[in-house]
Amino acid sequence: MNAPSHALLVRGANVISMDPSLGDLQAADVRIEGRRIAAVGQGLDGSGADCIDGRGMILIPGLIDTHTHLWQGPLKGLGAGMWGMGDYNRHIFPLRERFTAEDVGDATFATGVEMLDNGITAVLDFCHNVMTPGHAEAGLRAHDRTGQRVLFGYGMLGRFETLATDHPWRLEQVRGLQRERAGDADALVRLSVALASLEFAGLALVEPEIALARELGLPMTFHQNVAGQIHELHGAGLLGRDMLPVHCNPILDEELALIAQCGGGISFTPESEVGDGRSTSVIARAHRAGVTPSLGVDVPSRVALDLFSQMRLTFLLMRAEEAERERAAGRWPLVRHPGTPFIQPRDLLAYATVNAARAIGMGELLGRIAPGCLADLVLLRAGRYSPSLGDPAAHVVLQANVGDVDTVIVDGHVRKRGGELVGGAREAAVDATRRVRERLFGAAAPAP
Ligand SMILES: [Zn+2]
Repeated sequence: MNAPSHALLVRGANVISMDPSLGDLQAADVRIEGRRIAAVGQGLDGSGADCIDGRGMILIPGLIDTHTHLWQGPLKGLGAGMWGMGDYNRHIFPLRERFTAEDVGDATFATGVEMLDNGITAVLDFCHNVMTPGHAEAGLRAHDRTGQRVLFGYGMLGRFETLATDHPWRLEQVRGLQRERAGDADALVRLSVALASLEFAGLALVEPEIALARELGLPMTFHQNVAGQIHELHGAGLLGRDMLPVHCNPILDEELALIAQCGGGISFTPESEVGDGRSTSVIARAHRAGVTPSLGVDVPSRVALDLFSQMRLTFLLMRAEEAERERAAGRWPLVRHPGTPFIQPRDLLAYATVNAARAIGMGELLGRIAPGCLADLVLLRAGRYSPSLGDPAAHVVLQANVGDVDTVIVDGHVRKRGGELVGGAREAAVDATRRVRERLFGAAAPAP
């Protein structure tokens, strides 16, 4: 995709820069030249720029999701009423084996477009549906078409029965794909390795995956659903900040300390954790331990492609955890005291922007609105009736919804404007979802 040579000027918005030196700016302009933010401030020069009227709106860095399985988008709703991981493992996960490469391509495209529409400008796609090499190629080609910024997590966890025998071609394909793509430093779609789960594959398979990722300079991510796995990686000398563990619900506090020591983060997927009936205390424990959390939708078969609701739910889970601790300590009714409450709504916007940018290895370039950063931005209508009083970041976390997303810019390209995706992307995504459902289920929709 060629970088645009044109300039854009977002005029007169309430800018939440998330940049410590710039802070919030009222009625400010943001000038974009090519792929990058050129200037932020009041009364900027609009000459030669396509002007976008941001008056009365809030401009935030594009939201970044650090853990979603995009192939599940067309299965939306199938996981709605499920109870625990058992239901998921019986009814949803096995469907991946019925997806052809073409299905993965269509599903990935449709899900990426819907995310963009909802203000999610970047995503770590944990693609654990690489059943054949063609599946990975189709997923990557679909990402190349959406305009979303993507870290494609090449899934090492294939069919359980053939994990070991399939392993060589997976490693070889990662090497080949990186060779093809490494030349384009400006690429919107980049490669990473979604390691096979340790509890299924064991260190014997996972260690060569880590070695390959490090040899090629690729970031890694993995599902961490069993206590002790961080200890295991650390003990083998393998733990590093280039790995993003996901969920981490049963993680031990000593393991969080190890992640903090190496400057790493975790991806927390609140609605999915609650839906699976897992403990959610990790998000507060991680924050306190100095681990930088970020957020993900995880399973579109059950969770809406919406980071506003994930920020809100996470804030409430953390407040609930804290209140429970206070009640247990006999401090009821609740009172403020030093360090309590420890979380504010603005922290959650940091999870979905600056923290998430760091988690996908782009902390220097993404997650903030500042000169030199890549131009990934979301312009939000500030409420149909009236904006919130007080902190505008609290408005984003506690009041805003996907219907407020007016304009979406990725890499300097306008992908949505005036509340509508450009270039017929929504219609193309609807068609892609319909094709996947027809091929998977025929004319009959599956029963709940
Ligand atoms: Zn997951």
